[in-house]
Amino acid sequence: MNINENYLNLKDSYLFALVAKKVSEYKAQNPGKEIISLGIGDVTLPLAPAVITAMGDAVAEMGRGATFRGYGEYQGYMFLREAICGYYGKKDVHLDKSEIFIGDGAKSDLGNILDIFSTDNTVLIPDPVYPVYVDTNIMAGRKIIYMNGNTENEFLPLPDSRIKAGIIYLCSPNNPTGAVYDKGRLKLWVDYALENDAVILFDSAYEAFVRDRELPTSIYQIEGAKRCAIEFCSLSKTAGFTGVRCGYTVVPHELTRGGVPLNELWLRRQTTKFNGVSYIVQRGAEAAFSDGGYAQIKESIGYYMENARLIAEALKALGIWFAGGENSPYIWLRCPDGMSSWEYFDALLTRANVVGTPGAGFGANGEGFFRLTAFGDRDDVKKALDRIRNI
Ligand code: PLP
Repeated sequence: MNINENYLNLKDSYLFALVAKKVSEYKAQNPGKEIISLGIGDVTLPLAPAVITAMGDAVAEMGRGATFRGYGEYQGYMFLREAICGYYGKKDVHLDKSEIFIGDGAKSDLGNILDIFSTDNTVLIPDPVYPVYVDTNIMAGRKIIYMNGNTENEFLPLPDSRIKAGIIYLCSPNNPTGAVYDKGRLKLWVDYALENDAVILFDSAYEAFVRDRELPTSIYQIEGAKRCAIEFCSLSKTAGFTGVRCGYTVVPHELTRGGVPLNELWLRRQTTKFNGVSYIVQRGAEAAFSDGGYAQIKESIGYYMENARLIAEALKALGIWFAGGENSPYIWLRCPDGMSSWEYFDALLTRANVVGTPGAGFGANGEGFFRLTAFGDRDDVKKALDRIRNI
């Protein structure tokens, strides 16, 4: 047996695993210290009541012979795909139910979609960004070209006509910088992809946090995108489903390469390797898209965004440069006093007992920057900000 040697090209450990290891070592050496995490992007508020009711009803159905269900539909139950089509309709994006694939979260689909692309495609990945895009392509041995995000381009890299690539990742709102592409800049990417026969993998996991109505929340709000983009979204941050697990991927019928519809390839891949998300979870997800459920979810998002506002206000008062926090749950700050991002991580951990995420973990351009998240408990956020002020 020969191993996949591409794995040897990966960094030692996944960023968040490394952060967790450092924190647990510090805790072991300093028992009794109360650590507050504004680090990993995990939600803290409970599920919306509408979701709980729907999942409870579904559990009861599974307990009765007449309503019990076994394997579900491969692409996800029709009721959920209809609800998602309705959600997109409100964005003026018209999708067919057969263009939507329900999965167990955006992370799996973002990794798995690579099955349908040849490994000889060159991949364009923004830097800094969510590390999963880089790692999954390293595992497959693809050539990666990084697109620099920096303060000059507001961490929103734009296409360079001299660079040719087959696969392009865009994450908007971006994790970790909180930057959001406006329609004009996104159109440049759509035009580039169409000209180069490339495919954009558009990660909109944080679309529900966009409050500026002028900003796009789906790439399909851009003319031509159905011919060049696959969109990935998730209920993880939208509806607090990080532990429940449900997401969806949109592969439009208009998207073909080499005469082959990618929707068919992805369906073939999914029917072979994936047996769906549980009925109970899909009923919960459906409830999240109902009018009542969505209003409850928006309340939770509003709570997190108030945390973001408090963090932003504190950083402003301290004279620390930052971005994000207005249309995303992430605040991206420049480490004070010229510290490197891991130096600042250590300083915050040991002197303030606050955990954040070093920007360098999201790519070379993240060096010197740091990510805080707004997903914490309000009192914890306030306490963490007091501690940061004090140091
Ligand atoms: N995409 C981005 C940009 C994320 O930040 C995350 C999770 O943090 C995901 C995808 C994965 O989400 P899921 O929980 O749906 O797998």
